[in-house]
Formats: sequence, C-alpha cells, structure tokens
Amino acid sequence: MNNKKSAQIYQEATKYMPGGVNSPVRAFKSVGLNPLFIERAQGSKIYDVDGNEYIDYICSWGPLMLGHSPSQIVDGIEEIIKKGTSYGVPTKIEVDMAKIIVEAYPAIDQVRMVNSGTEATMSALRVARAFTKRNKILKFEGCYHGHSDALLVKSGSGTITYGVPTSPGVPDDVVKDTLVCRYNDLDAVRDIFEEYGNEIAAVIVETVSGNMGVVPGKQEFLQLLRDITKEYNSVLIFDEVITGFRLHYNSSVGYFGINPDMVCFGKIIGAGLPVGAYGGKKEIMDMVSPVGPVYQAGTLSGNPLAMYMGKKNLEILRDNPQIYTELERKATKLAEGLKSNIEKLGLDYTVNRAGSLVCLFFAKGPINNYEDVTKCDISKFNKYFKEVLKRGILLAPTQFEAMFLSNAHTDEDIEYTIKAIYEALKISHN
Ligand code: PLP
Repeated sequence: MNNKKSAQIYQEATKYMPGGVNSPVRAFKSVGLNPLFIERAQGSKIYDVDGNEYIDYICSWGPLMLGHSPSQIVDGIEEIIKKGTSYGVPTKIEVDMAKIIVEAYPAIDQVRMVNSGTEATMSALRVARAFTKRNKILKFEGCYHGHSDALLVKSGSGTITYGVPTSPGVPDDVVKDTLVCRYNDLDAVRDIFEEYGNEIAAVIVETVSGNMGVVPGKQEFLQLLRDITKEYNSVLIFDEVITGFRLHYNSSVGYFGINPDMVCFGKIIGAGLPVGAYGGKKEIMDMVSPVGPVYQAGTLSGNPLAMYMGKKNLEILRDNPQIYTELERKATKLAEGLKSNIEKLGLDYTVNRAGSLVCLFFAKGPINNYEDVTKCDISKFNKYFKEVLKRGILLAPTQFEAMFLSNAHTDEDIEYTIKAIYEALKISHN
C-alpha cells in the first residue's frame, strides 16, 4: 500500500498542529502508524490522498447513518450557503429541527442546539445542577461525555469513588463533585446513592457505551438508574451523542423503553456538520437563559447549514423505518461473521453488538464494563488493525471504539469485510 502523500502531509502537519491532527485518535498513534490523510468519501467508501480505497467503519465516528455524502442530504446545500452561512438571529429551520427532535424523543419537551457533544453534556449538567440546587454528579467508568473538565475523570481505586482527573490541566477541585461507578454494576449504584443520594444533581450515562468498544447497558441497570434518580430527585441524563437516532428512531427511549429527564445529542443530528443539542422536560429547560437564570449561549448554535443537513437526515430516518431494519440485519450479519471467524480460528474473543454498533474485543467475554475491556490483548489488536487496513478496510485505530455501520454499507462490503478480517486475524495470531 502506497502512503507516500499521506506521509508527506503528516510531516508538514506535525510542524503546525499538535501531533499533526485536530483530535488525538486521528493520529493512529495507538496502533503505531502514521495517520491517513483523506481526499474524499462516498457511500461506504473513503479514499486517501494516495488513491487507496477503504470500506469505512469509522464513518466520522457515528454521524453518517446514510454513509458519506448522500445526495438526498447534500443536494441543495449550495442554495443554503448562497443565502448566508450564519446570521446570529433566529431562523425557521431551527424551530423545525427542534420540533423533529422533540417529537422523536417522547421524554422531552424542549431542546437547545449547541455545536458539539461536549457542549451538550457540559450544558445539560449545568442545568441539572441549577435545577436540583446540588453539585455532585455521577458518571460511569469507560463512558465518555466529551472533554469538559468535570467529565474528564476516571475512578480511583474501588468500585465507587470520587473521580480523579484523566488529564493534566484539570484541577482536582473541578472534579471533586464527580463521582464514578463501574458501568452495569447495580450494587455500586445502590451503594453510592445510599451514601450521597441527596447530594447528587445528576446521573449521566451512555445507554450503550460506544467509548469502550461497544458495551450495552443492561436493561436492569438502566431501569435502576431511572428508579433511583426518581427516588432521590436527581436528574437522569442519557448521553445519546452516539446512540441518538442510531439504535432506534426514538433513540434509547424506543430501544430500552426508558425515559430519562434530560438527553444529549450530537453526531447524527448534524449528519457530519458540527452540532450538538440538549433537551429535557419543560420545567427543567425553563432554567435555561433567557427564560431562566442558567447561562448558555453560542455564536454558531443552530447554524443554518448544520440545521439543513441535520433536518434532512432526521426526516429521512423518520420517514424510512426500513433503514433501521436493514441496518439491524446488516450489523447482525457482520457480528455473526466475526463470531464465526473467531470460532474457526479457536480464538477466545468476544463480539458485542447493539443496533448498528459492532465491536470485536480481543478478550474473553462477557464484556460488561471498563475493567473487562482492559483485559483485551492490545498488541494483538494493533497487529490485526494493520492487516485489516492492508486489505482495504478502515477500522477505528483503537480497541476502544465501535465499528459504525451505515445504510450505505452493502452486503458485498460486509461479506468482504468478514473474509478480510478472517485473514487478518489468522496472520496476526501466527
Ligand atoms: N458523548 C459521547 C457519548 C461521545 O461519544 C462523544 C464523542 O465521541 C461526546 C459526548 C463528545 O462529542 P463531541 O466530540 O462532538 O464533542
């Protein structure tokens, strides 16, 4: 595989940008490679500057439910640009977008658009804290909620702990009210509420964690979070930045049948343009400025280009429920193929799947939490990643992320992927 141009650009990139990238995982550092620089993408395929073609399972880390640059969504965007790219005063399309989101998410009455998932979770927590007049928040180890200071924590020792910063630059004081529990651990949740329940403003959780591979929340775990937050008058926040409009058109409300008090979105609601949103019941959203006292704002929030793409994306998903059935079928086919590969090769590995999120863990299952994920054989994964890449398949360059399927992935793509992964597993385990 020729990577000459990517290598040249990378050299220049490192001179002007930290690590040559604008988001760390893009550097391919964890798999010991240099990053690929991309020229274009269409459907399920992505092309680098050296002309190599890959079946793409990163799909921009989730926003592209219909694949790259689907004409049903991108056609017409030139007309929008010509009318102006941002006004800083309201537009009708923002109202249309809010209406679509609220109608699709029965647990909420109102939504506020922001520019990223990070902004959505950070703002939702601020609102929840103001609403409850409490400071503590509870998150789960292995769940990622963006890079705002209070959420950049890992647990200390033990199953229930105060968080410790995972990044220099985050003061201990800022995370002193962030509690951390093991994901899917019902006893840990009960214990932490027994001790701190009356001080907990909010619990924030990924209903299916896509940030430690793919680890679905157990139904009884999510139900406990619903019940216990109700009992203690804490706000339950579903971070649906990955799962929103992916697991189901009604997101986790449809998939698990559980209603949170607040929700955070990103990714799919922008179809590849920068976007995020948070929402909740009216009494909670009434806290937000200008109705209420909680300040939160954004120069580009509700940007017309992002709203145009996002609205079209959601309308297509709403009006074509077969997209979800098809994605479920294709993802099952991929997951079954991966399972059959590992069985044939006698590897004691695990495949997790939820909707169109799939992950092959290089460890024995079951994989239910972060501790389980850390048992993965990362050096084997890294060898495997390179072999898969050589065969024209782009996976996330880390064991800790999902394979994202889009509706543009064909049966042929999936069949080829299963075959190529078999070969890659075989070679990397010799
Ligand atoms: N929440 C979850 C569940 C995510 O997966 C991410 C990013 O991947 C975020 C929040 C942060 O979103 P963004 O990268 O748009 O800031």
